Amino acid sequence: MKLKAENLSLLGDGILKPAYDRNRLRHGIVHIGVGGFHRAHQAVYTDELLQRGGSLDWGICGVGLRDSDKAMQRVLEDQDHLYSVMTLGAATAPAVQVIGAISAYLFAPDAPDAVIEKLACADTRIVSLTITEGGYLIDDHSGEFDFSHPDIEHDLAHPGTPRSVFGYLSAALGKRRDRGLPAFTLLSCDNLPQNGDRARQALLGFARRQNPVLADWIAQHVTFPNSMVDRITPMTTAAHKALLRNETGLDDGWPVVCESFTQWVLEDDFCNGRPEWESVGVQFTQDVTPYEKMKMRLLNAGHSAMSYLGYMAGYRYSHEVMRDPQFAAFIRTFMDADVTPTLGIIAGIDLERYKDTLIERFSNPSIGDQLSRLCMDGSSKIPKFILATLEERLAAEASIARFALILASWALYLRGALQADADYRVEDPAAPRLLQACRQPDGLCARFLGLEEIYGSRLHASAALNSAFEAALYRLETQGIAATLDEPDLVA
Ligand code: NAD
Repeated sequence: MKLKAENLSLLGDGILKPAYDRNRLRHGIVHIGVGGFHRAHQAVYTDELLQRGGSLDWGICGVGLRDSDKAMQRVLEDQDHLYSVMTLGAATAPAVQVIGAISAYLFAPDAPDAVIEKLACADTRIVSLTITEGGYLIDDHSGEFDFSHPDIEHDLAHPGTPRSVFGYLSAALGKRRDRGLPAFTLLSCDNLPQNGDRARQALLGFARRQNPVLADWIAQHVTFPNSMVDRITPMTTAAHKALLRNETGLDDGWPVVCESFTQWVLEDDFCNGRPEWESVGVQFTQDVTPYEKMKMRLLNAGHSAMSYLGYMAGYRYSHEVMRDPQFAAFIRTFMDADVTPTLGIIAGIDLERYKDTLIERFSNPSIGDQLSRLCMDGSSKIPKFILATLEERLAAEASIARFALILASWALYLRGALQADADYRVEDPAAPRLLQACRQPDGLCARFLGLEEIYGSRLHASAALNSAFEAALYRLETQGIAATLDEPDLVA
């Protein structure tokens, strides 16, 4: 049975479906970057609030800026913007819910004016983002906004027909100011340290170049809460769609699958109101930093630690890697010995329990989290998830052997993609520069660690890192992965 509003009443009792009046939803939230994660996380929290009788002012209008988002628009439009979320526990049957919180979707390349008007509309009080780590265009080391990006050059020259998220936000905020409307909150839900601060820095950097008076207005009126977001959401596959059909009889053009674990910690800094998300499990705090540091350094870094090495060892899913005792030991030792000393005490968190849960989550076979997904966008992920911790451990004169192994595995994964028989491509906006650095084996260490936009000058110049990287590379190339993971300095 096709997923459509008219078919909701035919769904079995085991499937949770919207009980609120979707026709009366107003779009208090506009979300840019409606991918798997937004649909498994913010939209689910918002839906649960609506189910409990929360205000209908907080419906969601999705927006896609990239050509590839056309497919999402088609699917959602075809099924009245409904979609299903299938929660896959390690030992439980899939739980299915139909989410109704998103009730409209705009594909920006077809309708740029409509998107600007939607963002500028008085109903819109929060604009949220999941545009990936690389979408903020901020250099990790210099902290500078990338004005040389073609979309940014275009938007500065053509402010009325933007392409980038910052061009759209700036155009819409200009209209709100001109119309005497209050600003909206810009809520980043991407995996970035201080994601709200990054969003602020990027938007203000862009706006200041375009219109300094508007930039001042934005600085005064828009708020940018930081948030920590967590729920493992793999890419939806044909097998997931088939599983949904088998379990429920439901035909959904693009369901979402995710784990049952979910967490959202948010700074309570909303300039134009917000939903009562605290009543559906969202934790509001004054300072999100310790939570996001814990999550990025353990969960996201754990993913980076397993992805390149695991892929080269022939694994394709996170749970396959975790089934290998050598890998499981490597990941846990990395968490315990390399990351935990950098975290300190975090209010309300039992770190040992948190790490145990992470190991369980990584090992969940039902979720089928693709290593190919975890390998994507290394140039954005590695600096945020691995290098900050590495710098602290170098400063503490601690062993950095496991960090070096992770970096060496990334370099070899990149080089592997250049082989004639490679079965994968490097999905990363920086792929040409990364591949160039890894093309020749001779001098790889100097060229790879010389990628300044990733390593910065301090790490590049670190004798300890250079020698540990050379050692890790040598071991991987001469002994292979299994023997390397047995080396005493990695196991300790
Ligand atoms: P996805 O590929 O399903 O969706 C990504 C969306 O972002 C798409 O709509 C895409 O068009 C848009 N996008 C990408 N780059 C953009 C840009 N430069 N400007 C505007 N839009 C852009 O990915 P996803 O699984 O939804 O993950 C998105 C982000 O969510 C991640 O990068 C991460 O920061 C965060 N996140 C994901 C997970 C997860 O498990 N998938 C968990 C926590 C946080």
